Amino acid sequence: MSNRQKLYINGEWVTPHGTETFEIIDPRTNTSVDSIVLGDEQDVDAAVAAARAAFEGPEWPLAERLATLRRVGELILERVDEFTAVISSEMGSPEQFSRAVQVQFPVSVLNTTVDVAENFSFDEPLGPSTMAHEPVGVVAAITPWNFPLHQAVAKIAPALAAGCPVVLKPAELTSLSAVLLAEAIHDAGVPAGWFNLVQGRGPVVGVALAEHPGVDMVTFTGSTAVGREIAARAAATIKRVTLELGGKSPALLLDDLDDEGHKAAVLRAHGFSLFNNGQTCAAWTRLIVPEHRYQQTLDILRESAANIAPTLGPLVSATQWDRVHDKLTRAIDEGATLEIGEIEDAPSDGYWMAPKVFGKADPKSEIAQQETFGPVLLVQTYTDRAEGIRLANSTIYGLSAGVFGADQDEATRVARKIRSGTVHVNGLNTNPLAPFGGMGQSGYGREYGEHGLREFLEIKSIQPPAA
Ligand code: NAD
Repeated sequence: MSNRQKLYINGEWVTPHGTETFEIIDPRTNTSVDSIVLGDEQDVDAAVAAARAAFEGPEWPLAERLATLRRVGELILERVDEFTAVISSEMGSPEQFSRAVQVQFPVSVLNTTVDVAENFSFDEPLGPSTMAHEPVGVVAAITPWNFPLHQAVAKIAPALAAGCPVVLKPAELTSLSAVLLAEAIHDAGVPAGWFNLVQGRGPVVGVALAEHPGVDMVTFTGSTAVGREIAARAAATIKRVTLELGGKSPALLLDDLDDEGHKAAVLRAHGFSLFNNGQTCAAWTRLIVPEHRYQQTLDILRESAANIAPTLGPLVSATQWDRVHDKLTRAIDEGATLEIGEIEDAPSDGYWMAPKVFGKADPKSEIAQQETFGPVLLVQTYTDRAEGIRLANSTIYGLSAGVFGADQDEATRVARKIRSGTVHVNGLNTNPLAPFGGMGQSGYGREYGEHGLREFLEIKSIQPPAA
């Protein structure tokens, strides 16, 4: 039995108590890659017990934690080809994308987290008092499949840096990359109990973690529906919860752009809407343009769709393909116009789907309000700027937005009016120091940089005697 059929608990690869096997399918070919064995509630008990023992055991000093984390990053890069191939085989992203975005980017996030922790004041003077920042305790990390290594690392690195042992439950579909990550963590010398991997189904292992009295915090990335459920379950034991959830993010193109500026903005926005074939929480899936530029925008998008299509991977699974397909059909039923692309029949050899662009949708309809999580862009129009801003803010979400305009100051003023955890102005810039997270039903809590580290810290006031 390889590590793929085991769980990593208390520093060892162990045979799961759970017995259900789960087949990992390559979405590019619809063929089997391997199978894993899923854990159950008893495996969660064992992992949480190991994490608690680590938390309550001898101190693992900060400097050693940070040096070990850096080693994890080095070991991931030493096996970059293997990580790249495995992530491509389990979730379908093309080789180059897997290497740069799915493997190298998380390592840079890890290193930035270590840099931040090295410079962080864990003790802050506050008048005569000391404000001590202490680890929150045992952390359960529940992650999705779309950026599997990144989402795990963006939680594990700040948790360990803060001094919190972790139990990771990755998405079932992307369990194989989690095994590689656990191997790197083991080889780097993370002490027993500080990192544990329990593969398993959300409603079994995820639920057990959210409810477990031995878990102090749940950090979750995934859908809003599951986030809502996790927060409710975690409330019974007053756990700290951070939720990185879905989005229906807008790119708002202002009316002061000239033809060239408008085209550049449309291309940038379209590219991001198709990032990871649209399976990206922050993707700009609504393009909001001045009414008089509607046809011109579609012409640009038609050419862009043809250019980008060959570079995209498939959707992650047959279930995801069906979900997206159903949403497309419902969009048409609700009156939206499919302006670019066509509704395909289900493919048999891989879950491929070409880019589509909708227009003329009712702003209250599903395609305008809810995530599609596929290669689908909606073009919406406005007649005056206030209406454009209202449209941008017209969903329950607020994860990521773009504002493009000829005047940078004015575009920045508009950006301040968008209710969103991140707003990019005239570009798309990733800064691993800048906090990432949602407003509204995109969740709460932030990842990256110092704000990401603080999520895993409790504040304790240490009071001196009264003067
Ligand atoms: P999902 O919510 O179905 O699953 C996410 C994780 O939760 C998986 O590990 C799953 O097994 C687990 N889970 C499922 N049901 C559970 C339950 N009842 N209790 C506890 N855990 C449970 O999401 P997904 O389909 O894997 O990923 C896609 C979603 O993730 C999209 O909605 C997307 O927007 C969101 N996402 C958000 C961000 C962000 O940072 N905001 C990033 C990536 C993805």
